[in-house]
Amino acid sequence: MKRIGVLTSGGDAPGMNAAVRAVVRKAIYHEIEVMGIYNGYQGLIDGKIVQLDLGSVGDIIQRGGTKLYSARCPEFLTEEGQQKAIAQMKKHGIEGLVVIGGDGSYRGAMALTSKGLPSIGVPGTIDNDIPGTDYTIGFDTALNTVIEAIDKIRDTATSHERTFIIEVMGRDAGDLALWAGLAGGAETIVIPEVQFNLEDILLRLRSGHERGKKHSIIIVSEGVMSANEFSKILKEHIDIEIRVSVLGHIQRGGTPTARDRVLASLFGARAVEMLMEGRGGLAIGMRNHQVVEYSMTEAFQGKRKADLSMYKLSKELSI
Ligand code: ADP
Repeated sequence: MKRIGVLTSGGDAPGMNAAVRAVVRKAIYHEIEVMGIYNGYQGLIDGKIVQLDLGSVGDIIQRGGTKLYSARCPEFLTEEGQQKAIAQMKKHGIEGLVVIGGDGSYRGAMALTSKGLPSIGVPGTIDNDIPGTDYTIGFDTALNTVIEAIDKIRDTATSHERTFIIEVMGRDAGDLALWAGLAGGAETIVIPEVQFNLEDILLRLRSGHERGKKHSIIIVSEGVMSANEFSKILKEHIDIEIRVSVLGHIQRGGTPTARDRVLASLFGARAVEMLMEGRGGLAIGMRNHQVVEYSMTEAFQGKRKADLSMYKLSKELSI
């Protein structure tokens, strides 16, 4: 391959820039040119394509968001949209593509691969919800942002002897809530993977209160319900002061952690190696501390399972 493309797609995640940098530097190291595609698949259709040189990815390893911008692109779901994208790739001499994004973006990459343009999926999403990989780029940064927020909320919760319900991101996957709950010492974690038991939550709140617990932290994954809805349910059954905090988009931003930058660098470089070998339709992941390759279909057809032993442990540790 003489020339490849790189784009970021779907929800942005801290560390995407580090992945783009790795793709560009690794490719140029092997004398392959890299075209940066702006605004995800929309930019591919519209031809927003610019050659990236070594300097163009300087000073971005530490930046959150994505310098290539991201977008959701309904037009790419259509055959016509995909043909336009392929025509642009041909026009710009792009022979292979690295797609950094979530499972929706992988579907797009698979469509291109099946039409003769090998594409590789690099997992970039704060939700950590892609089957086949233990971690996605951005999860660790988002987790640390959530922990920082929980620690701050805990101070005020203690001072005022209040119960706080904190809503975190995660549409279908509870990893962010689960990890943040365990690391933040939450009394209760509510995630999409486990049907919550209201009686049990109320019992824990009451017994904690009776033995003089100063505060209680409940983490709710947005995929289950909003923190406000959850607060309403609790207030119907228990007479305690409850405050709600919705962390929202601060979870997506910020300087990527070292762990996310390392992951992004390993994944980006591997994606280039795979394209150099002419391979496509594959996703990259991390399993047991090893970088692995697997079928992209597996990534978007499977369902990632949360580690429920962590859920059980958090309950044991927060009695
Ligand atoms: P994420 O990649 O974070 O899961 P989305 O699900 O929004 O985000 O997907 C990002 C983009 O990927 C979509 O806007 C669309 O352009 C493309 N895409 C999603 N699903 C498909 C599909 N089935 N076929 C082709 N392209 C798709």
